Amino acid sequence: MTTIKLHNTKTRQKEVFEPIDADNVRMYVCGPTVYDRAHLGNARPVVVFDVLNRLLRHVYGPDHVTYVRNFTDVDDKINKRAADSGRSIGEITDETIGWFLGDMAALGAIEPDKMPRATEFIPQMVAMIEGLIASDHAYVADGHVLFAVESYAKYGALSGRSIKDMIAGARVEIAPYKRNPMDFILWKPSVGDQPGWESPWGFGRPGWHIECSAMSYELLGASFDIHGGGNDLMFPHHENEIAQSCCAHPKADFARYWLHNEMLQVEGKKMSKSLGNFFTVRDLLNGHDGQPPVPGEVIRFVFLSTHYRKPMDWTQKKAAEAYKILKRWRSYASNVSLEVGDGIEPISNVIEAIADDLNTPLALTHLLDFEKKNLRGNSTEMKDIVSFQRTLRLLGLDGRAVDTARFPREVQDEFNKMGIQKQVCAAIDAARVEKNFSKADEIRDKVKAAGFEVHITANGAALSETLVSDYSKLVMLK
Ligand code: AMP
Ligand code: ZN
Repeated sequence: MTTIKLHNTKTRQKEVFEPIDADNVRMYVCGPTVYDRAHLGNARPVVVFDVLNRLLRHVYGPDHVTYVRNFTDVDDKINKRAADSGRSIGEITDETIGWFLGDMAALGAIEPDKMPRATEFIPQMVAMIEGLIASDHAYVADGHVLFAVESYAKYGALSGRSIKDMIAGARVEIAPYKRNPMDFILWKPSVGDQPGWESPWGFGRPGWHIECSAMSYELLGASFDIHGGGNDLMFPHHENEIAQSCCAHPKADFARYWLHNEMLQVEGKKMSKSLGNFFTVRDLLNGHDGQPPVPGEVIRFVFLSTHYRKPMDWTQKKAAEAYKILKRWRSYASNVSLEVGDGIEPISNVIEAIADDLNTPLALTHLLDFEKKNLRGNSTEMKDIVSFQRTLRLLGLDGRAVDTARFPREVQDEFNKMGIQKQVCAAIDAARVEKNFSKADEIRDKVKAAGFEVHITANGAALSETLVSDYSKLVMLK
């Protein structure tokens, strides 16, 4: 079995990953607050943890991984958006969730197994808060419930800060009812149009952090394997999640491995809504500000070309380079049935690179090397094409992440080319089924003359391009 190593923020070390239960590897990742289109930065954790999810499924089996990512659908930014637009909160969150899933699918991200919405877990949050009050980790003050950070000795351990440093460095909300300025809100009163639920502390709504503690407990249990998110969430969100969960379930570990992705930057600054230096994933997919549309797969490739623990910049140059490579890669594999050749594995050094703390840039380098060595000549072997294509599929770069309606002309042409290949293969297959081998050979010769290679596999004919492939000659054969 492949050994997976992950950098654990908790220990600041790369560690061998050992799941609590190899039959059910469990991962929780903090998802978006749903009030607007995802910007490109928001997509980074989605792609990073999608790669990890795919790796875990490859190693432990697709039915032995549970991946949970939440939607924060109760938040003051959502309330403001509703008030400003005159629309209901439900309408806004439903619409935004639809956009998010569509945009992330275009980037080749497999949907997590469970995507809980905070508003569906209010009773569980209330129960957890009641437990924290009963065990003196939380207190009621002025209609609010607050977590008492001093009641948890390890507060700050994840990000390696003391309470004093945190007070100095953070914009903590000073409120007269707080015992310690670092104490954070578990529950707060709702008035007027604010959404709310009945609770032992009056009509109100949860603070942000408690949702992840309550939902991960409900869906994954008190101890689970991996918790992920952007490193901007490490403090205070993840510190607060740890404090709540570990105090509510003192015998459990909560999350064993903490993974944080670095930020996507624009000219050295984090891309964020508040700085206004953002563009959305949809902007890129559709084309914006005079730029051509960028296929989702190209965005994904550019993301993978930087290690997740390094800051990355989005540049047009990187996108153009990725585009060229992917176009070439697709041509090798365009008509290969992956059902061919049982037992052909994805390329081993690519898997090893991914398993080594998700070293995706190295994985891409290995793919390029493999291409140069095995796919560029005139005697490509079917097993190499299949292995290459299986590797692309594992990485989500196999052309399935298509937002076809939005694809630029050139890429649509690419799909048409594949259509032509399929039709020609069908003609060869039909001749062979009729046992009209001379006809099959005749078509094969013409296909070769058009600069393609023909592979006869257990699943029928397949073509691959060479450097001299000429589609116009192939069209004549249809
Ligand atoms: P938010 O909706 O702001 O809570 O963010 C949702 C997710 O996107 C979180 O995991 C954040 O860490 C992540 N995120 C936000 N901005 C960026 C960025 N510029 N680069 C990478 N991840 C980001
Ligand atoms: Zn969270």
